Amino acid sequence: MSDGITHRGNIAQHVQAIPSSGIRRFFDLLASMEGVISLGVGQPDFVTPNHIRQAAIRSIEDGETYYTSNYGLVELRHAISRHLYKLYGVRYDAGTEIIVTAGVSEALNIALQAVIDPGDEVLSPDPGYVAYLPCVVIAGGHYVQVPTRADDSFELHPEEIESRVTPRTKAILFGYPANPTGAVMPRETMLAVAEIARRHNLFVISDEIYDRLVYGTEHVCFSALPGMKERTILLGGFSKAYAMTGWRLAYTCARSELTEAMMKVHQYVMMSAPTPAQFAALEAMVNGEEDVRGMVAEYDRRRQLVVSALNGMGLRCPEPKGAFYAFPQIGASGMNDETFAERLLMEERVAVIPGSAFGEAGAGHVRICYAQRYELLEEAMERMRRFMSRNVSTAK
Ligand code: PLP
Repeated sequence: MSDGITHRGNIAQHVQAIPSSGIRRFFDLLASMEGVISLGVGQPDFVTPNHIRQAAIRSIEDGETYYTSNYGLVELRHAISRHLYKLYGVRYDAGTEIIVTAGVSEALNIALQAVIDPGDEVLSPDPGYVAYLPCVVIAGGHYVQVPTRADDSFELHPEEIESRVTPRTKAILFGYPANPTGAVMPRETMLAVAEIARRHNLFVISDEIYDRLVYGTEHVCFSALPGMKERTILLGGFSKAYAMTGWRLAYTCARSELTEAMMKVHQYVMMSAPTPAQFAALEAMVNGEEDVRGMVAEYDRRRQLVVSALNGMGLRCPEPKGAFYAFPQIGASGMNDETFAERLLMEERVAVIPGSAFGEAGAGHVRICYAQRYELLEEAMERMRRFMSRNVSTAK
């Protein structure tokens, strides 16, 4: 029998190879419980600002219910181009270098599918965003983890990247500010990574969905580094900064040849991003700056509350400089991260995510999303304190 016949009726092997989500089981459990404070899901508690919602409503009332260009609304692409130039000094041509996508989720997939040949290797820091590994595998690639360590706040060491480069390495994929650690990558490290990318002729897929959420530090846009626009696919989005997770809107920026390659995938899997969401995103980009600043200031207040409470109860938590996550070590509890998260949920009704869901290096940590109301965070920290005092004392 030929291979085709042997495998008829089977699920594709590369899809079978994707591990099932460590988080899903947890959310199933959570859905059946009452009185839970969820610090699990990585999304803003804010409703999308009203003027942004109104822009979408207006577009629908005006009958803007058709497909847009495959690239996205031209006004939106111009707005994205102006925005990136203003913030980071990097220039993208609105006609040929930007695609509006259905979330960074789609952007990530079309980027990987455009550059990965079967068996190509993609280097990515561990721990990392849960979708990176599956998306690399779906694109036919091998995901190669680059370990980072809790004792230096999960900094990415460029030499750890370079020592894993092989003739099959095609790209480096990362997201800073980082999910789940909240780490940002300092400019010097970025420059060193850029040098490695240049030396080994690698693409860099830079997921900058959290670019606006930084606290007391700058965000460095990877493609704005000298010579990097040529080899970078920049992914940017609206979900986090503008509280627009449900709208499913984001974008890719890359030189025209790469953009054309991504367009070949985008036009057949998505055609174009949802039209009302594009009108909302245009309003966000043009008039949303004050909203972003207000939300970031509030996240910062919550961040300080959570980090100081965690350290105070013996859960060592370095200061996260970006995104809206804290990633404390939970060793003091005497439990592993899965047991910790499960018992915290059952005993105190606080949901956090076990760190090992984000990769091996995340073991012994939990991810806490502090994009939650301040009073709820206070209550959650009180519950965690109670949990810790009970468990640390029983461990003695
Ligand atoms: N990239 C990172 C690092 C994320 O944390 C998330 C969502 O949590 C995404 C991408 C997906 O974003 P979107 O809502 O734009 O699909």
